[in-house]
Amino acid sequence: MSKETRARDAICEVGLSLFSRGLTFGSTGNISIRLPDGGWLMTPTNASLGKLDPATLSKFDAVGRFVSGGKPTKEAFLHFCMYGQRADSRAVVHLHSTHSVAVSLLADVDPSDVLPPLTAYFVMRVGRLPLAPYYPPGDEALARAVEALAGEHHAVLLANHGPVVAGSSLENAQYATEELEETAKLFLMLRGETIKPLTPAQVEDLRARYGSSS
Ligand code: ZN
Repeated sequence: MSKETRARDAICEVGLSLFSRGLTFGSTGNISIRLPDGGWLMTPTNASLGKLDPATLSKFDAVGRFVSGGKPTKEAFLHFCMYGQRADSRAVVHLHSTHSVAVSLLADVDPSDVLPPLTAYFVMRVGRLPLAPYYPPGDEALARAVEALAGEHHAVLLANHGPVVAGSSLENAQYATEELEETAKLFLMLRGETIKPLTPAQVEDLRARYGSSS
C-alpha cells in the first residue's frame, strides 16, 4: 500500500472516529495531511467527517495548488497557514467542537493563554493556547491572525469558531485536539469552583521533561 493510500485511509478513519464521538457534526471540521512529496490531502467541502471517501479527498501539490478530488473547503487556508509556519507539522485537525467553541466565547479569558494548566497532559499535548480574534470565515485577516500565532503555537483557538491544531503526525494532531476539547470541558465544569491548576513551577518542570509541542 502506498504512503498516499495509507494517508487517505488514515484521514477517513480519524474523521469517522471524531464524528462518532460527537466531536464534529454536520459537515463541519476538516483534516489534512502533508504528503512525503510535499503535497497535501484534505477533507473536501460539504463532507461529513463521518462519511468520508478516501477517493474524493482534495489533493494539493507542493505549492498548495488544487490538483484533484473533491472541491476544496474554504477553510483550507487555515491548514496552509499552520503548515507555512511549522515546517515539522505533518497533519492539521480543525473542529467546531462544542466545549472548545464555548471557551472561545468567554469574555474574561487571557487571549494569549486561554486555558489554565489543569492537567499534565494538557501542558504536554497542547501547551499555551492563544485565541485568534474573530473574523468572518475566509477573511484574509483571519489568515494573518492565525499565521502570526502558528510559529509559536501548534494549537490555536479561533474566537467564536473552534480550534486549529497541527501535529508531527495525524495521531498527534488528533490527540492534541481531543486533549484541548476535554480540557475545555473540564474548565467549563469548574467555572465558579475554587480550583488548583498546576503551579508555574510544575508547568516548567513538565516543559523541561517533555516539551509541549506535538
Ligand atoms: Zn471552521
